[in-house]
Amino acid sequence: MRIDLHTHTTFSDGTDTPTELLTHARTEGLDVVAIMDHDSTSGWDEAEQAAHTNGVALVRGTETSARYNGVSVHLLSYLHDPHHQAYVAQNEKAQDARVSRAYRIVEALKADFNITWEDVLAQTSEGATIGRPHIADALVATGQMPDRPSVFEEILCSGSKYYVAHYAPDALEAIQTIRAAGGVAVFAHPGATTRGRVVPDAAVEAMVEAGLQGLEIHHRDNPTEQQARLTELARKHDLLITGSSDYHGDGKPNRLGENTTHPEVFRAIEELGVTPVVRP
Ligand code: AMP
Ligand code: FE
Ligand code: FE
Ligand code: ZN
Repeated sequence: MRIDLHTHTTFSDGTDTPTELLTHARTEGLDVVAIMDHDSTSGWDEAEQAAHTNGVALVRGTETSARYNGVSVHLLSYLHDPHHQAYVAQNEKAQDARVSRAYRIVEALKADFNITWEDVLAQTSEGATIGRPHIADALVATGQMPDRPSVFEEILCSGSKYYVAHYAPDALEAIQTIRAAGGVAVFAHPGATTRGRVVPDAAVEAMVEAGLQGLEIHHRDNPTEQQARLTELARKHDLLITGSSDYHGDGKPNRLGENTTHPEVFRAIEELGVTPVVRP
């Protein structure tokens, strides 16, 4: 069984529609794939249909952008109730904040680039969670930059003069909300030193206290020494260990199935979540 538990679609910053994602999952020989768009469950219905069409099992979830002591923390929620009130409110607040934040970034970029808000909207699918990748795509589409990664390196990194942060819930509260909604809470790429600061062991332990159930250890952004540290932590606290691609279609070099999750861990997640896995 090949299981990839972290991918994105056009409902956030991936470039495949959910239908295209499930088609690619089939051609890549995956048995199980998870749709984990940022701060949204809007892609779930299309993905469910496409799972049946393609004969690939589907895990539905969301990746929540949170913060712990000023450090950006991404939390994967698997198989939660998408209608849970507090959970929906948390996503709506994040989405609203993301729109005004993206607008402010575009205003700042106007000093040095030819870019309009309409250029960014043209890169954003209907109903998608907006983010820096869509702004990057606007610079690429208008011929001012070659690709998304170079925009992140040179223009939109968190230290840049154009960068604006967006509201993100506190990580401990976000974990409690995920659990209240019946989701399985897994810390995404917890050792991703390339993305900025990572949180120390004590923070992970506080997150475990709040209800965290797993660590996404096998991910290309966690360097080897971080994977060793995190494996130790997972053993100590009896946490699930997952591995995933974090596929974004053409938006990132990450390829489907480049990291995978053990079938036993997948079964544990299935058992713990309140929304069923779609089994074609
Ligand atoms: P935001 O949530 O708007 O702050 O944007 C963060 C998103 O940008 C992440 O979810 C990634 O998908 C994407 N991203 C971050 N770094 C890079 C990079 N170097 N190349 C391409 N996409 C990136
Ligand atoms: Fe992303
Ligand atoms: Fe992430
Ligand atoms: Zn992701």
